[in-house]
Amino acid sequence: MTAPAPDHAFIHENMAAYLADALDPAQRAAFDAHINNCPECFDAFSEARDADRALQRTLAGLAPDPKLEDHITSYVRETTMNH
Ligand SMILES: [Zn+2]
Repeated sequence: MTAPAPDHAFIHENMAAYLADALDPAQRAAFDAHINNCPECFDAFSEARDADRALQRTLAGLAPDPKLEDHITSYVRETTMNH
């Protein structure tokens, strides 16, 4: 057996750190592996990510740049859907 899959608590505890890019590569990989196989956590993560983006937009006081948005969306897809 390889490294044990992280449980739901790991995802919820580390969601903010993930969004802040504060996880180390092993933690990030474990996080990705879990949300790729757990629709419940993936949904929770998607909501947190959207809320995080909305908050950052508010803090920046800027309208979102559509191209940047596409870039971020592509990046997140690549990192979270990486099978
Ligand atoms: Zn889960």
